[in-house]
Amino acid sequence: MSLNQNPDVVVVGAGAVGTSCAYHLAAAGLKVLVVEQDRVAAGSSTCATGAMYSISADFNDADYLRWGVRGHHSTKAIVPVLEDLSGVRTGYQCRPAMRLAVDDEEERQVRADLEWQAEVMNTRWLDPDDVRAIEPAITPEVRGAAFEPEALQVPADRLSHAFMRSAERFGAALFPSTITGLERRGDRVVGVTHKQGTIACDNVVLAMGASAALASKWLGYAVPVRPLRGERLMLRWPSQPLQAILSTPRRGHLISRLDGYLSVGSTGGRDFDDRENWIVGQDEAVADPHPEPSPEAREELLRRATEVLPTVKYATVGQHITGIRPLSRDTRPLIGAVPGIEGAYLATGHTHRGIHLAAATGELVRDLLVHGRSLQPSCDPALFDPARFL
Ligand SMILES: Cc1cc2nc3c(=O)[nH]c(=O)nc-3n(C[C@H](O)[C@H](O)[C@H](O)COP(=O)(O)OP(=O)(O)OC[C@H]3O[C@@H](n4cnc5c(N)ncnc54)[C@H](O)[C@@H]3O)c2cc1C
Repeated sequence: MSLNQNPDVVVVGAGAVGTSCAYHLAAAGLKVLVVEQDRVAAGSSTCATGAMYSISADFNDADYLRWGVRGHHSTKAIVPVLEDLSGVRTGYQCRPAMRLAVDDEEERQVRADLEWQAEVMNTRWLDPDDVRAIEPAITPEVRGAAFEPEALQVPADRLSHAFMRSAERFGAALFPSTITGLERRGDRVVGVTHKQGTIACDNVVLAMGASAALASKWLGYAVPVRPLRGERLMLRWPSQPLQAILSTPRRGHLISRLDGYLSVGSTGGRDFDDRENWIVGQDEAVADPHPEPSPEAREELLRRATEVLPTVKYATVGQHITGIRPLSRDTRPLIGAVPGIEGAYLATGHTHRGIHLAAATGELVRDLLVHGRSLQPSCDPALFDPARFL
């Protein structure tokens, strides 16, 4: 694919979501051009923990949870293929996950969610002794946990590079520029404009992450995505890696990575965080997708993690990571055709779950664009239809 050939599809944005769309479309035989203003995984996808556990408050009803389970299966199936095609070692791992209850309120919440989650996925309640048999370092205060036998974690930047390089193996190309608008003939997309010119194309997939609302004026459709700040810590963890991916409703996640760090987070991402406190302005988010880390966030993350895993008090902070998530109005992504414009698609607004759902998003975008419908009967694509906000 070169600029001299007209692409079938321009994908705007090379985060985990855009690169997955590019891969799935290129593998289906389409000529794909990815336009990225910065570099692969420059935005939110460079700072995500890359955790993929389905027992969480993010997948907040049975229909959405089915997509969570699908995201898990899609990722597990695709990562070895991507590693083979791209040569990128992703640092991917499979471990059980436990959604822990450390106080009464958390126990009520975890047990209540488990009742309906167990109808959709493989999960069950574990008593405190069973929890500590799996991971003895967890506080003796623990009341129990929802258990998911297999969850995943993959460094999100490496996943994005693996998708992009694999897409290139199918002929896709990456073009460095900023998209500034759409070219239309009537209600049809016929191209995109960028800082250096225009590119003719029949389809465009807007995977612009937290900047997605900037496309509203091009589309005549108010893209309901706002920038949501998040911070997490990477602790140096010389002891044995944790045996499970841990999270609690109020205290966040604790995840051992294969590189020897323990990820602890994330502000603005815990089940009961008031998201309004973490929203930042659109201009601010575009100007700096990785704002200054805050000492308050660091202190709070360490305090909450220590309540779950007392040995955290001996750990030192290796990195303090900040980023901006694409928060959609109902926290679910927008994946599908833009109402009223033929050839324009959105793939954005994944909020806390853009890595978990990247592979499944690429599959859905491919199905919608190539076949005109989703080919996954067990998951309802209407859940993500941008038209739900009209
Ligand atoms: C601290 C933190 C922890 C997280 N942990 C997890 C986790 O454990 N699991 C999980 O699933 N998710 C997690 N997330 C959320 C996840 O990071 C996002 O949902 C995901 O990265 C969104 O991916 P994206 O490709 O949509 O956006 P991005 O990765 O932000 O990519 C968008 C790209 O579009 C480019 N772009 C924008 N506008 C234009 C334009 N006009 N022209 C050209 N290029 C453009 C940008 O430069 C950027 O590279 C976390 C987020 C944070 C902040």
